[in-house]
Amino acid sequence: MKVKFWGVRGSLPSSSSPTEAKEQFALLMREFLDKGYKTPVDIDKFLSEKNLVDVSGYGVATTCVQVKSSDDEQMLIIDGGSGIKYLSDTLAKNRFAQKEYHILITHFHFDHILGLPFFAPHFIPGCTVKYYCVQPECEKIVRDLFQKPIFPVGYEDLKANIQFIKLSPYEKRYINGFAVTPYLLDHPDPCYGFRIEHDGKAYGHAVDTEATRTTAEQLGQDAGLYQNLDLMYIDAQYVEEEMDHKKGWGHGTFERAFNLCGNFAIKQVYMAHYDPSASLKDIQNIKERARAAFEKHAASKTTVWDFAYETQEIEL
Ligand SMILES: [Zn+2]
Ligand SMILES: [Zn+2]
Repeated sequence: MKVKFWGVRGSLPSSSSPTEAKEQFALLMREFLDKGYKTPVDIDKFLSEKNLVDVSGYGVATTCVQVKSSDDEQMLIIDGGSGIKYLSDTLAKNRFAQKEYHILITHFHFDHILGLPFFAPHFIPGCTVKYYCVQPECEKIVRDLFQKPIFPVGYEDLKANIQFIKLSPYEKRYINGFAVTPYLLDHPDPCYGFRIEHDGKAYGHAVDTEATRTTAEQLGQDAGLYQNLDLMYIDAQYVEEEMDHKKGWGHGTFERAFNLCGNFAIKQVYMAHYDPSASLKDIQNIKERARAAFEKHAASKTTVWDFAYETQEIEL
């Protein structure tokens, strides 16, 4: 199974301001010269020594994750944040050879659906787009997105065959060859995470969540989302000291993610849903703090962890 992150921002697409981008460029140029590099040939060497994210940031787009089988033959899409536009552009290069698309929806906060009208298969005759969601209002909300004058093409004019399939919490269902089970996350307006199993591997999608429940006892039936995951993708928009005044906003922290990893033997975790106001420097600082916290964390020592970036692909 492969998991690709097409959008890792929360709430609103956001990039560095021109001033921040200029500062980052100046920083890199200074570092280049400080290392004694001088010639154009040195540029590639210098960049190869840097992490991609420390050069160009974590990305702009909001939530969209693609889950694929190892042979790339089957896929699911989770949420239609603005990242789904980049996924659509990639499918276009292959002239939308695949005719059936499966989109799981966690909830309807704007950052998770704003890219849906830009998913091109909606406009292609012969394509089928199937939506899967626990909440019964999915069809109405998707129909309302394709509505003049907020979008130039009305729902009735879409060329694809569009279907809506209702999921039930805790009920495993096979979708395009993947076993998918929805679980309730800690988020207002309810939001469902998905456990996806395929090829003997398990992926847990836990965005958006405040992760107010991190033990088996607190989670009850929802603990099934986290048990023995090979990969968890989780909301870590805030840090713990912000939680006093952001309690109830529905977003978590790396500390809570590490607690889940320790409690449920999770092998790998990627943090995401970055705050739209967070600059590259802010995310780098939070990641440094996460590194220090991880060293002290007794229970999650064997977990591999990182902060997700746009277009990153993890193979399980
Ligand atoms: Zn969100
Ligand atoms: Zn939300």
